[in-house]
Amino acid sequence: MSDVGGARLRRHGRAALLAAALALGCMVFFNGAARAEAKPKLLITIAQLGEPLGQMLGACADVETLLGPGVDPHLYRLTRTDTAKALAADGIIANGLNLEAQMRALFERLRTQKLVVYAGELAPPERLIRPDGVTADPHIWMDPTLWSDAIARAAAAVVDRFPGCGPAVQANQPAVLAEIADMAAYVEARIASIPAAGRVLVTAHDAFNYFGRRFDIEVLGVQGLSTESEAGVAHIRDLARVIAERRVRAVFAETSTAARAVEAVIEGARALGADVRKGSALFSDAMGAPGAYEGRYIGMLDHNATRIAVGLGGEAPPLGRHGLLAPLSQDEG
Ligand SMILES: [Zn+2]
Repeated sequence: MSDVGGARLRRHGRAALLAAALALGCMVFFNGAARAEAKPKLLITIAQLGEPLGQMLGACADVETLLGPGVDPHLYRLTRTDTAKALAADGIIANGLNLEAQMRALFERLRTQKLVVYAGELAPPERLIRPDGVTADPHIWMDPTLWSDAIARAAAAVVDRFPGCGPAVQANQPAVLAEIADMAAYVEARIASIPAAGRVLVTAHDAFNYFGRRFDIEVLGVQGLSTESEAGVAHIRDLARVIAERRVRAVFAETSTAARAVEAVIEGARALGADVRKGSALFSDAMGAPGAYEGRYIGMLDHNATRIAVGLGGEAPPLGRHGLLAPLSQDEG
């Protein structure tokens, strides 16, 4: 009896030891796997993506945004350092739709090795604007509703590859999207306050088509969809005539585009008798400095809506939705 009992005990003892060893092994393995995926390094091209996505991911990922204030993504070419960062990253998140025209080839090559997400290409195709019927306009962050959807889809793609980010995204996403929805309502009210006559948004390049559709304002770009093409003399003359005829009060430069063509349009319109001035530079393809309010996606929306409303004769609090905008400088207004 005692022999049998002792054998059973020893057997149980061995089984328990084996189970403990297995559990320990699993834990070591699990911890190893968890460590490996704990902090994926994500390289994100534009700040319009990097900032809100960084808020959603919180501390679960190391997020680096490649393009800073004033940088034009249409023209930007990767430096050797950028390429090294792209190679070292666990994932790359870009807008796509040919916005980052000079970077696409590298990202496509890296696709077999790492997560590569084009947020703009995750948007429902029927929601994309195709001015020539074929090529999709890449500037979809100008519609906060469409952009919220694209950011959420990009976050889901990150979680799919790095499940360790699931809890952070689940916890943070509702607040990020609610903040954007609140700002979208503010933008809508500001743009609606602009008098119907002269309710035309003329900007340096065709970055505001989605903004125009979402907030019901006619938009005209001096340059085309990409800053790669120069504005023609005939186009500048046509714009000047529209400004004079419609009594448009301001034409807007952009922080990431040369102001030369905008100034030519203003001169042309003034020559036709228009009382038009240069409005504040808007954030089109780049945002403000990281850490500044204008370096946040909602800050960019706030700045644009507030400046456009003030410039075109509408109503807006001078410091924006949250009183956080940088004050207008002397030559703005
Ligand atoms: Zn652009």
